[in-house]
Amino acid sequence: MAEQERLEFEIQGMTCDSCAKHVEQALRESEGVEQVRIPGWESGRADVVVRRGADHQALAQAVEAAGYKARLRSRRSLEEQPGDRGAGQDFDLMVIGGGSAGFAAAIKGAELGHRVAIVEAGTIGGTCVNVGCVPSKALIRAMEHYHAAGDHRFRGVETSRGALNWGQVVAHKDELVAELRRSKYQDVLAAYPEITYIQSRARLKGGNGVEIDGQPYKPGKIIIATGARPWAPPIPGLAGSGYLDSTAALDLKELPRSMIVLGANAVGLELAQIYARAGTFVTVLELMPRIAPFEDEAISQALQEALQAEGLQVVPGFQTAQVEKREGRYRVVGAEDGAERVFEAEQLLVATGRRPNTADMRLEQGGVELGPRGEILVDETLRSTNPQIYAAGDVMGKDMFVYTAAYGGALAAENALTGAGKVYDARAIPRVTFTDPQVASAGLTEAQAREAGYEVAASTLPMSYVPRALAARDTRGLIKLVADTATDLLLGAHILAPEAGEMIQVASLALRFGLTLSQLRETLFPYLTNVEGLKLAALAFEKDLSKLSCCAG
Ligand SMILES: Cc1cc2nc3c(=O)[nH]c(=O)nc-3n(C[C@H](O)[C@H](O)[C@H](O)COP(=O)(O)OP(=O)(O)OC[C@H]3O[C@@H](n4cnc5c(N)ncnc54)[C@H](O)[C@@H]3O)c2cc1C
Repeated sequence: MAEQERLEFEIQGMTCDSCAKHVEQALRESEGVEQVRIPGWESGRADVVVRRGADHQALAQAVEAAGYKARLRSRRSLEEQPGDRGAGQDFDLMVIGGGSAGFAAAIKGAELGHRVAIVEAGTIGGTCVNVGCVPSKALIRAMEHYHAAGDHRFRGVETSRGALNWGQVVAHKDELVAELRRSKYQDVLAAYPEITYIQSRARLKGGNGVEIDGQPYKPGKIIIATGARPWAPPIPGLAGSGYLDSTAALDLKELPRSMIVLGANAVGLELAQIYARAGTFVTVLELMPRIAPFEDEAISQALQEALQAEGLQVVPGFQTAQVEKREGRYRVVGAEDGAERVFEAEQLLVATGRRPNTADMRLEQGGVELGPRGEILVDETLRSTNPQIYAAGDVMGKDMFVYTAAYGGALAAENALTGAGKVYDARAIPRVTFTDPQVASAGLTEAQAREAGYEVAASTLPMSYVPRALAARDTRGLIKLVADTATDLLLGAHILAPEAGEMIQVASLALRFGLTLSQLRETLFPYLTNVEGLKLAALAFEKDLSKLSCCAG
């Protein structure tokens, strides 16, 4: 090693993979060259290891003879590598956090030809596969089947169900989690030899460094993708009561007879319905005046009715004052409309939101500024207040979905490594709450549209107008469209329906690509599908739907 030097060249004129190969070949065939690495043609760069004293001008001439331009950027002895290279490794990109955002960032870095490290302190795959989307949706689907088997709406169809084997349901969920963790993370990692996986906790050091297990590293760029964790409000008595968070609630081995769920947003509502359908008596307490408080008001109201019809106790506008645990039972004391109310249950689940994982990372040493909830402040290209450090995923404290995390991770890596300056585009993000009926929405609610100053028109179509819902004998829910009367543009779509998540993408595309209500009305939708309801809702702006014949004609 002591006899070698590392040269970094800026290469001009490379426009494709073949160009990179030509430059690499020209360098390899030059006198004194021992190793050549071009981290993708887009990088505009070549790293060359040469025997000490090799003539860099001869190397530049070889590149020019191949039809490109080369300029020496740096030259240093390999024995003079700074000590802070982490056991001799230097990475072009270090990604902190091995969840969806981190994996997407690392893969993009590798695809661009860079040496990448991914550092994970917990379980590979992060929240979604281990304690989020996958286990929750597995339990939801199992309980949907169980619930449907006991449902007597289907005339002439005998339905019956045996006793629920909860232990088996949980075991199947664990199997799916293990399988997807292997196929979507562990195996994927094995397919990218350019990515080094480091199982440990990372912290920042000054000078754009990272410290892992006391070892200093100095990567070229850093992406922080450390996600978020469950957060509980400072309610007297709560911290000492040993309550469940979403992670623990997804892994209860025994069914409780009763459960209080504090918080009626997506995570709280999904878990509340899972347990209610499994036979637990569930009470949902929400501080805001309505459940699903960030959805359109019409959706909140109809969802509350649907959950109550299944036997859940739902109490919005409840201000919790105190939590106690006495003789193995939780007691939640608070007020509704100024009057004291007390709820008791065997289990208490707190689902009051998530906060970014940024504590104990010494971000201040890296010049990375945080917002009031500990979220990393980024610009529109996901660059933090330190130009060498980017952030993506839940750690940004917004758009907390797995698909936005993956999108942001890949974008941050590309911007960090190539300077592409691509803008994070959060327009018309579709959102789904996997209750049954599901809530799915995109764009502005009616109230948001009015607040934004649009001339708003809205149409609300009960699902009982949708032939598919009639055939399925399940007319729970509604579709609400919000539009701008000045331009006829769709501004928002809000659906409460079975499998609404399968319908919302049509509305999301319409919003993203600026479709008008007229264009929606003129588009063909297949008959006897729920998504046809979107066309009917668009027609409802100008027609009496009871006068329509078949197929929205
Ligand atoms: C119950 C539940 C259900 C959900 N359901 C859905 C759904 O249906 N659809 C959907 O789109 N989204 C869903 N989400 C949200 C989704 O899971 C998250 O938005 C997504 O997983 C965030 O990905 P991320 O990569 O930003 O963070 P994470 O996946 O949380 O990854 C961050 C990783 O960083 C690691 N880490 C933290 N600090 C350090 C450190 N200092 N050094 C090294 N590693 C560190 C953590 O261990 C973690 O593995 C759900 C979430 C929950 C909780």
